[in-house]
Amino acid sequence: MQGLDLAALPKVQLHCHLEGTVRAETFRALAAKYGLELGERADPARTYAFDTFGEFLLLFAKVTQTLRAPEDFARVARDYAADAAAQGVAYAEIFVSPSVWTFFHCELDVRATVEAIRRALDETGAPLGIEVALIADVTRNFGPERAEASAREAVGLRDLGVIGIGLGGDEANYPPEQYERAYAIARDGGLHGVVHAGEAAGPESVRAAIEVLGAERIGHGVRAIEDPGVVAMLAERRIPLEICPTSNRLTGAAPANAAHPLGALDAAGCVVTIDADDPALFGTTLLDEYRFVAETFGEDALVRFARNAIDASFAPPAAKARLRAMFERSRNSEPAGRIS
Ligand SMILES: [Zn+2]
Repeated sequence: MQGLDLAALPKVQLHCHLEGTVRAETFRALAAKYGLELGERADPARTYAFDTFGEFLLLFAKVTQTLRAPEDFARVARDYAADAAAQGVAYAEIFVSPSVWTFFHCELDVRATVEAIRRALDETGAPLGIEVALIADVTRNFGPERAEASAREAVGLRDLGVIGIGLGGDEANYPPEQYERAYAIARDGGLHGVVHAGEAAGPESVRAAIEVLGAERIGHGVRAIEDPGVVAMLAERRIPLEICPTSNRLTGAAPANAAHPLGALDAAGCVVTIDADDPALFGTTLLDEYRFVAETFGEDALVRFARNAIDASFAPPAAKARLRAMFERSRNSEPAGRIS
């Protein structure tokens, strides 16, 4: 298909975990720095190999274990800004997981680490034309009290560009209802709230994320498709879905052998956006996900999803207007004959 120049399309990124963007060579270098044994992962061809979802979770943990000091996170943030800008990302809201950092390294100073990330994103991103906000992803597995402390901590990081909280981790065993207070703390503190739901659990998890936690966006949400009532609720309330096709295939959230449900969700009036989740670990990029969607669902759908991401972002109105203008300018500079 020779249509849109997808690389040049200005993009808004809404569902990407900083810890999932670590380049394989950076992971190997950090492991060497800290004397962490990599076994067969020392082989560049096998660094990020995994066969089962359980192995993937162990790999994610291992990568996070190599992030021990603010300068490690700064390195990853610099790489992220450069890699994202090279794919045309103009604005991003990326997840960071301080509660996972301190689970592995309790002595890590969270504020100093977020300061280092902020500085790295600004210094690398600004000259490349990319602006990055942060969402602190709260981990379900650590329980409601820890989540409430994480929400308070996130409120205290607003001056460093933390604009919201998310909820990640073991969705199947830790339903949204347990985190109502954490989301109230975040909201009262002026933060936005997004929630991973409908990924490892069914549509009831999406409903609770909206009704109990007041989720403003849903991470994935693909299993909402199992309940027409939840799909209708998402469509009526215009609650955007951050859908990551490769991630969904590899985690089993979406069937590998059938069409991805994003097409049906879009057809039902849901606000679909596209992202890459943990791109380095899943062996993908945002641009690869855009290409997959354009090839599978058509360029018109891809353009709609890319526009949706601008509208679904938490960027201030003036920034959204600027992003929309950039986007439409890029569409209008398509080669003659390609403009529909
Ligand atoms: Zn995610």
